[in-house]
Parts: sequence; structure tokens; C-alpha cells
Amino acid sequence: MRELIVATRNQDKLKEIKLLLKGLPLKVISLNSFKDVPQVKEDGNTLEANAIKKAIQVSRFLKKLVVADDSGLEIAFLGNMPGVYSARFSGKGATYDSNNKKVLMLLKDVPSSKRNAQFRCCIAIADKGRLIGIVEGGSKGRIGFKAIGKSGFGYDPIFIPYGYKETFAQLGMRKKNKISHRNKALVQAKKVIKRYINGKH
Ligand code: IMP
Repeated sequence: MRELIVATRNQDKLKEIKLLLKGLPLKVISLNSFKDVPQVKEDGNTLEANAIKKAIQVSRFLKKLVVADDSGLEIAFLGNMPGVYSARFSGKGATYDSNNKKVLMLLKDVPSSKRNAQFRCCIAIADKGRLIGIVEGGSKGRIGFKAIGKSGFGYDPIFIPYGYKETFAQLGMRKKNKISHRNKALVQAKKVIKRYINGKH
């Protein structure tokens, strides 16, 4: 069976991506199976640029079909920060917890009506160094007043999707995966991949 490499070493993302890619006639493998792949510097100004860079560099190195995800949280009140800086928002040695604390601190005293935010996920697909496609998915909601919930990762404990009262971290992976930015992007990515492997690209 042909292989599809997921260009991430983030175990949390990988778990979600693997579940959401089910149904493709491909063997989905993570970067953990390829220890010698050089680290890609995520120095783009946009999620799109970083996803494309990762997909192209990793697929060129491995000479394989690759998907790469770059994602982030955009908070309207903070001028769409942290965005592309989501992973390292609270500086060197940032953790999920320290990032959440920083967001809650910056939004201290900001009323519910001004706590709008969205997750965005960009997914690039490349084969042997050639870009095949770039797709995107978004999930709108608002930032809560404290971190609640144990499921998921990153900003999940402080993000309440529209239509819900619970955070992504309270909803659990199954419910999150039905409505998430990553799900929406991967639905599109699957279409691109299917067309490509069927030779209709
Ligand atoms: P990167 O895409 O590896 O640069 O990292 C994106 C960062 O955004 C992660 O480290 C998380 O902090 C955050 N993030 C991305 N997707 C999600 C998600 O689905 N839930 C919560 N946080 C996320």
C-alpha cells in the first residue's frame, strides 16, 4: 500500500490527524518513523507559508507523499495574535499551560462579547518536493474566563466553540473532531489526496 507521511512530531496533532485521515487507501505514517528528517524552521509569516514549507521540504527529503499541518489560534481582541506564534506565545520554554495563562491574563476584564476567536488549520500536501495542494479549515468561538477540561491539547481548555457551552477540552476528542478546524481542513485535504492518487491532478 502506498504511504502518506504526516509531517509532525506533535503527538497531540498526530492523534487527531490519524483518526481524521481514516478511510484513505494509504498507509499513514508519522515522522517518528523517520528519525533523520531535518527539523524544518517554521519562520513563515503565515500558517499557509509554514505548512507549505514543511510539506515541500519533508517530501523532498523523504521522496514521498506528505501532509503538513500548521495551525493557530487567532484572537480578535489581540489583533489576531497569537496566530502563527501560537506554539511559542509565552516565550522560550512555552508550554500549553503557560500559553493559556498568558491569553487569560491579556483578556482579563475583557467582556464575553469581545472574546471572539478562531482556530485556523492549514494543510499542505506535497509529493517528492512538489506542492500538490493547500487547504484550510476554521473553527469559530470565544475564549473562556478560565481553563477548563482535560481532553485535547494546546488552547483547547480555554476555547469554547460557537453553539456550545463547553470548551474543546471538555467536549472530548470525538466531539471536537467532528467540528474542529483540523477536521474541516482534512476533509478538503482528503479530496485533494484522492484526486492525486487516482491520477486526476
Ligand atoms: P504548530 O502548528 O505546530 O506551529 O503549533 C500550533 C500551536 O497552536 C499548538 O502548539 C497549539 O498550541 C495550538 N493549536 C493548534 N491546533 C490546536 C487545537 O486543535 N487545539 C488547541 N490548540 C491548538
